[in-house]
Amino acid sequence: MEMKKLVSLCKRRGYIYPSSDIYGGINGCWDYGPLGVELKRNVKQLWWKEMVHSRRNVVGMDASILMHPDVWKASGHVDSFFDPMVDCKSCKKRFRADEVEDKKCPACGGELTEPRSFELMFKTFLGAVEGRASTIYLRPETAQGIFVQFGNVLNDSRQKIPFGIAQIGKAFRNEINPRNYTFRSREFEQMELEFFIAPSGNKEWFDYWVNQRMKWYKDIGVKEENLRVREHRPEELAHYAKKCVDVEYNFSFGWQELEGIADRQDFDLSQHTKFSGKNLTCYDEESGQSFTPHVIEASAGVDRILLTLLVDAYEEEPERTVLRFSPKIAPVSVGVFPLLRKPPLAEKATHIEATLRECFRTFYDETGAIGRRYRRQDEIGTPCCVTVDFQTLEDDTVTLRDRDSMEQIRVGAKDIASEVWKFLYSGQRFRR
Ligand code: ATP
Repeated sequence: MEMKKLVSLCKRRGYIYPSSDIYGGINGCWDYGPLGVELKRNVKQLWWKEMVHSRRNVVGMDASILMHPDVWKASGHVDSFFDPMVDCKSCKKRFRADEVEDKKCPACGGELTEPRSFELMFKTFLGAVEGRASTIYLRPETAQGIFVQFGNVLNDSRQKIPFGIAQIGKAFRNEINPRNYTFRSREFEQMELEFFIAPSGNKEWFDYWVNQRMKWYKDIGVKEENLRVREHRPEELAHYAKKCVDVEYNFSFGWQELEGIADRQDFDLSQHTKFSGKNLTCYDEESGQSFTPHVIEASAGVDRILLTLLVDAYEEEPERTVLRFSPKIAPVSVGVFPLLRKPPLAEKATHIEATLRECFRTFYDETGAIGRRYRRQDEIGTPCCVTVDFQTLEDDTVTLRDRDSMEQIRVGAKDIASEVWKFLYSGQRFRR
């Protein structure tokens, strides 16, 4: 699939727009339109349901984006969150040094500068006076907000080790070279779980979370053959990690990371104890000793998952383009149409749509040829459509159309909500 076709569909249909579009856009920033925002909400809701609501031993939180500047000294970001970069002397494009082969510009083959450090954290100022004392950062990850509140959450939530804290929120990185559509952005959202364990349980919990996370990607409909788990080589490991794997997706621009799962040992809580002077240990009743918990982290990017879902669902057929989203994530669950914009049909369809809207995301459309209306729903990934036609007025049945097979069956208008529910969620789609 050519990425430019998906980019065009996303803009045309209201999934993703360039940020500040009327001013020519801003590199590395994207806006989600009416359908994009629904898809994003579904992804975040499914993650939260899976990681927090379905477990007794995980709680959520929502930290501020601006934090005390010492947080980033303790975490190691101030000292080491840099990427070496090179500039092309001819075309002036900029690249990460580790992405360049043969010391030649990947765009024009020109000569490159020596690598220079590029600070990835955005700086800003706290308070009215611009000065060194008030320089703070936009967070480059959500995780540190969890670590610094570990003590409060432990005291207040009646949790005991092992337990986790989950968070969804914006993160900012001044990426050298934002590219591949939304894949590498400067402003993005993360969904992070920090799972706190006793120092002996690392391998068992690490394997557990890798399995759980892979299962979730398959559950939301990503094709298994396009997913893999790749372990980091020792030289790739971040300074805090003992072991790390990436969940990767097979994009047209190669296998790329969607989520990192890392054994961070006791690095974070030890560092924050050192820098803040506050005790962040737990007491083990059996041994009578205190210990600093270790952490298994699962850190996923919402925007990368969104891009994955779009790419994975996109299919071109001779007569139509389809987004074959799982009903769990589709931004619109059901389209409702009167065959013609005539009063008895339109009134009935309006009534049906109002009934369905109580349980599903619906879309009502009464203009244009019915075939065109179906194609439009196929292109935005709506799993089914309900059409009111002349037969409806005689026997109170409507057609239910399957996006994937394009087949239609007649179902009773009286039971329309349960018919649509069965179609979407019971797995009993009619003949495929
Ligand atoms: P990469 O090597 O691709 O820069 P990373 O290893 O620095 O990613 P992490 O620090 O592990 O990424 O961040 C966790 C997750 O946050 C990533 O798996 C990814 O989904 C998301 N993420 C990180 N940077 C970006 C970005 N610039 N744009 C969109 N998502 C991002």
